[in-house]
Amino acid sequence: MHELSICSSIAKIVNRSANGRPVRTIHLQVGQLRQIVPETLVYCWGLVTADTVLDGSILEVDRIAAVVTCQSCGQIREVGAHPNFSCTGCGGTHVEVTSGEEFLITTLDLAEVQEHG
Ligand SMILES: [Zn+2]
Repeated sequence: MHELSICSSIAKIVNRSANGRPVRTIHLQVGQLRQIVPETLVYCWGLVTADTVLDGSILEVDRIAAVVTCQSCGQIREVGAHPNFSCTGCGGTHVEVTSGEEFLITTLDLAEVQEHG
């Protein structure tokens, strides 16, 4: 299950960014074209972060719809659940994927901490 290795990578990045501060929520953008099931990712996050500093943090997955732009007629459309990459406007196949391949951590919500010293 590759979601496990993805979660390990995310945990590394989050740990580096948080720099020891407690993290409450991790916001993630995942494009539709990525072969990633958000529910599985959230489940694996729980496994990967158990008994670590990130234990109890929440992974918020923001699914980004796949969008293609036709290079012939300029039509922009969402691909939908059943990807078909030819243009519905002119029938052309010169379409470019302009959205849907995202995979990035957008923001981290840090828990309030009392400053010591
Ligand atoms: Zn077209």
